[in-house]
Amino acid sequence: MIIIGGGFSGALTAIHLARIAPPDRVRITLLNPTPDIGRGLAYRFDDDNLLLNVPAGNMSALADEPMHFVSYCLRIDPSLSPGSFVSRRLYGQYLHDLWSHTRAAHPGAIDVRVDKAVALSRPPGEAGWDVALASGERLRAEQVVLALGHQVPRFPIPLEPEVQERVIAPWDFDAMHRLPNHQPVLIMGTGHTAVDALFCLAQSPRRGPIYLLSRHGLLPHCHRLSPTAPKPKAFPEFLRDVPPTVRAYTRALRQHLKTLAQQGGDWRDALNELRPHTPQLWQSWPAAEQRRFLRHLQAYWDVHRHRLAPMGAQRLDQLLAERRAQVIAGRITTLRQLSDGVEVAYRPRGSQQVSTLQACAIVNCIGPNTDIQRHSNPLLAQLLKEGLIAPDAHGLGLRVTPDLQVTDTHQNPVEGLWYLGPLLKGALWEATAVPELRLHAQHLAQTLLNLP
Ligand SMILES: Cc1cc2nc3c(=O)[nH]c(=O)nc-3n(C[C@H](O)[C@H](O)[C@H](O)COP(=O)(O)OP(=O)(O)OC[C@H]3O[C@@H](n4cnc5c(N)ncnc54)[C@H](O)[C@@H]3O)c2cc1C
Repeated sequence: MIIIGGGFSGALTAIHLARIAPPDRVRITLLNPTPDIGRGLAYRFDDDNLLLNVPAGNMSALADEPMHFVSYCLRIDPSLSPGSFVSRRLYGQYLHDLWSHTRAAHPGAIDVRVDKAVALSRPPGEAGWDVALASGERLRAEQVVLALGHQVPRFPIPLEPEVQERVIAPWDFDAMHRLPNHQPVLIMGTGHTAVDALFCLAQSPRRGPIYLLSRHGLLPHCHRLSPTAPKPKAFPEFLRDVPPTVRAYTRALRQHLKTLAQQGGDWRDALNELRPHTPQLWQSWPAAEQRRFLRHLQAYWDVHRHRLAPMGAQRLDQLLAERRAQVIAGRITTLRQLSDGVEVAYRPRGSQQVSTLQACAIVNCIGPNTDIQRHSNPLLAQLLKEGLIAPDAHGLGLRVTPDLQVTDTHQNPVEGLWYLGPLLKGALWEATAVPELRLHAQHLAQTLLNLP
């Protein structure tokens, strides 16, 4: 079996397989461009200012051992608790340690290959897959799991090559540190990635403001201090028998939040309770309703659902209060090269006028590209071209069966091809964070092991 991608999704699938498979039952090859397995895109940074946006009590990598991460934290710092928001660095170290212990406990079960998969093909007349690697080598496997992770964001408008040079990729902190301090910087986006970029830029004593621009100009809300991990609850009563429309669900949720507030409750708890049921709710909507949600409500949902750790929110508030950071709601129309930067023309939200600002650079934090039809990943491009994967209706990911088997353009399951990772968003909506991915990794490992 080959798992392509050694971030959280790929590593956890391999870890579960090694733990549950009888010795010598499976041979797993994990492919990743670097030998650093587990950390992936999210947990590879050394900066302790970058915090998890989920409390430690809900970040165990192992769904069947909910306190696994908290126990790890307590061994490092006894003052931590399930409600603590620890650094992503610590979480990366935890994943790496879990990975190392699993390999030591199951010697020979997992082989790591530092390489990139560039194409998949079926060997003529045989079952399974031929995996072509960037190094020119080829590997053979009966089952292949795609765990390719996040793809770089696309810029919302076409860029001239000179302007392109002024655009910085998300989390390219070195490039951000090199920017001159006296000039403004524009961050495209106002979500978590934008906040990461802002914190990085604000580390140096900048004289120019840092603009954050998005269509709605909405910033993530803040978690409660020391929240407890939500207890699994049955399907929320207030949504039972509600017709599957965005309007009806919104009305029911608003009413529920109002009642909750009157009882002294917190709206965050209501969203937490909804979370395990979100995929079911999403799938109960027809495509037209899903589209309506994406057009009218997604921005509001995202800032309530994906919240900031209290310390991060405090820091953000301070930067805004000091006017070191300024939020703009609007849509970029054109970019023009200047001798020392870019002139950005944008239409403020609700206005027909065009405003401009100048920035020495633009940090692109509009969010990962989920549209597999416009991907730069060569492997996904090849699979799409050959009809072996298919996009979902909204460009949020790819189509899979409930067991995470990839389906082709005719919606037939593709023999021996599986997917785990953020591109499940199209199928499930709520699928991109650890509390969901850990469950999928465990189920996928069991499914693979149950195969004849
Ligand atoms: C900055 C950030 C912070 C986050 N914070 C939180 C949080 O606090 N709490 C939470 O619950 N969730 C958080 N998440 C979400 C979640 O944890 C991640 O989405 C999750 O780690 C996804 O892991 P992944 O393995 O699917 O993808 P990735 O981490 O992107 O890993 C994919 C791996 O596949 C490799 N790969 C890609 N293509 C190939 C190829 N062709 N051949 C071989 N290898 C390939 C990549 O190099 C990479 O190593 C965060 C996400 C991000 C981006």
